[in-house]
Amino acid sequence: MKRRIFLDHNSTTYMRMAVRVAVSEMLAEPCNASSVHSFGRETRKNLHDARLKVSKMVNANDVDVVFTSTGTEANNLVMSGFKGADSIAVSAVEHISILKPAEMQNKTSIIPVNSDGLVELGTLQKVIQNARGKTLVSVMMANNETGIIQPIKEIAELVRKCGGYTHCDAVQGVGKIAVDFDDLGVDMMTVSSHKIGGMHGAAALIKKKGLELEPQIVGGMQENGLRAGTENMPAIMAFGVAAELVEEDMPCELRDYLEAEIAKIADAEDFLIVGANSPRLPNTSCIAIRNCSSETQLINFDLAGIAVSNGSACSSGTVKKSHVMKAMGVEESFVSSVIRVSLSHRNTQEEIDQFLSVWKSNYLKVKEKLQGAA
Ligand code: PLP
Repeated sequence: MKRRIFLDHNSTTYMRMAVRVAVSEMLAEPCNASSVHSFGRETRKNLHDARLKVSKMVNANDVDVVFTSTGTEANNLVMSGFKGADSIAVSAVEHISILKPAEMQNKTSIIPVNSDGLVELGTLQKVIQNARGKTLVSVMMANNETGIIQPIKEIAELVRKCGGYTHCDAVQGVGKIAVDFDDLGVDMMTVSSHKIGGMHGAAALIKKKGLELEPQIVGGMQENGLRAGTENMPAIMAFGVAAELVEEDMPCELRDYLEAEIAKIADAEDFLIVGANSPRLPNTSCIAIRNCSSETQLINFDLAGIAVSNGSACSSGTVKKSHVMKAMGVEESFVSSVIRVSLSHRNTQEEIDQFLSVWKSNYLKVKEKLQGAA
């Protein structure tokens, strides 16, 4: 079988070898942290250790770590369960696991981004100042589609001065750039294990001590009463192992090489690197070929054994235009033509060259078609 190439590491990534080894050991023991006997005591200690490792990963001190099953669940917990705010403000480019629960409440404002994908701070400030009572602001560290990095420290300071609270969805930031909870000055942060080489089934909401939440899953008193249900110990311990191994700064040479080569292949007016002028994750490139549908591109990449993703959310057979592209005001002829390439340390230049060869053929096909029609 032809060797496949995985260039979709923002969706999920390979489980680290150390995690795989640790998980297989964990699976050998029964583990319920609520049990009184010695197995239970051991599990409670492991749970405690995993909390420390996850908080240390993002330099979060004096915090509670609430383990959830996914980043989606942690984001839902904040948006639907945070008790300290009378109003909510979220950026227009947040992940749907923030936008959906936020939009379900009639106290939510959506903060626009500029054409570079960055949150409009002036609008944010006005919204907080005009809002009733305290505002919970949620802005992501880095966007999953474009990799654009938001100025979280500046946002958290602005929010704090206005008497509000900041939540940061750092699911895409951790493992690609340095993430420092204390230095950023945020109040809450979401992190997810499967994005950093851990196992699926564990994520966390990290929150400053004293902040109150209404649990969204009720029953037992696990996770201090904030998330009922027996903890997924293999996944949580795997999260701890992955957290200890997380890299802070990923090199961007391969991504920059890819983008430079594309600029040599195509005419400047025919393609777009979304967010090229903004600070971006070093592994992410969001590329559009004018009038070349992302589905066609994806199929051609897939036929060549290369996994990339499109910028659009696809559900029940219908392809929706990406809310991120819309919010940034990306030109219509590019919006449905976006693909996302997201790299990891495992990728090689040879793999990027194979990607470029398919990209070139996609580009030339659409170019010829347009020239034929002219
Ligand atoms: N937030 C961002 C920015 C994401 O990219 C994702 C997943 O892609 C999530 C939240 C949801 O995380 P999970 O897959 O753990 O539910």
